[in-house]
Amino acid sequence: VVSVRHVTAGYGTLNVLEDVSFDIHAKRTVAVVGESGSGKSTAARVITGLLPPRAGEVLFNGTPLPLDYRKRTKDQLRQAQMIYQMADTALNPKQKLRELIGRPAQMYLGLQGRALEERVRNLLSLIELEPDDYIDRLPSELSGGQKQRIGIARALAAEPQFIICDEVTSALDQLVAEGILKLLDKLQTEFDLAYMFITHDLATVKAIADEVVVMRQGVVVEQGPKQEMFQPPHDPYTELLLSSVP
Ligand code: ATP
Ligand code: MG
Repeated sequence: VVSVRHVTAGYGTLNVLEDVSFDIHAKRTVAVVGESGSGKSTAARVITGLLPPRAGEVLFNGTPLPLDYRKRTKDQLRQAQMIYQMADTALNPKQKLRELIGRPAQMYLGLQGRALEERVRNLLSLIELEPDDYIDRLPSELSGGQKQRIGIARALAAEPQFIICDEVTSALDQLVAEGILKLLDKLQTEFDLAYMFITHDLATVKAIADEVVVMRQGVVVEQGPKQEMFQPPHDPYTELLLSSVP
């Protein structure tokens, strides 16, 4: 379980999050929705320790995490992984997939040599890319959807309990996005993963979420099981969001 407790955070003099609290339970998917600039990615940065908050705390399985990622243990870092919207910018263009995917397995789990190569091949299979075809490719030799899969494999390589997906399907066309969602769903079952799924798209929320957190201007305006979210009555802002779903 990841718990965000009374977090207030921002950049310089700008306050972005104001007393934000929510939980992401083991093996569950929490969708975090809200308009652009509402603070979704900022909340993700607080959880991963990239942005230490001004107040509040982040707990992992009941234990407070150091707020700065540099003070976290290797195991604490391993447990919470993140996948980004722009898979492109997160992948070093000079590294082949064997290094890109192998690095976290080496760093967090100490795998080397044959065992590392086996692990990379196994991860490629998990993301449904043929290991022999792909292991020596560069990111530039992949489609957008395939790059996103590499982001997933890299996150999985650390054997986390929890993955933050920040707009991971936003830059993809619908069929490819559906493929990614299906894959994430399969992996969740197989590895007992919890997801914090940041998205603008309520159709995606409908498809994958167990619970929903609605953010507006740095405040959580509503949270609860998905079923409740798609039934009235609502916070007026949630109502507005829902009215935009076909
Ligand atoms: P989007 O849906 O567009 O990704 P978001 O909900 O993820 O939006 P954030 O990225 O968390 O929003 O941004 C919240 C606010 O913080 C915005 O006003 C943004 O301009 C500001 N902000 C984000 N990152 C920084 C930064 N590194 N420095 C200063 N301000 C920032
Ligand atoms: Mg964002």
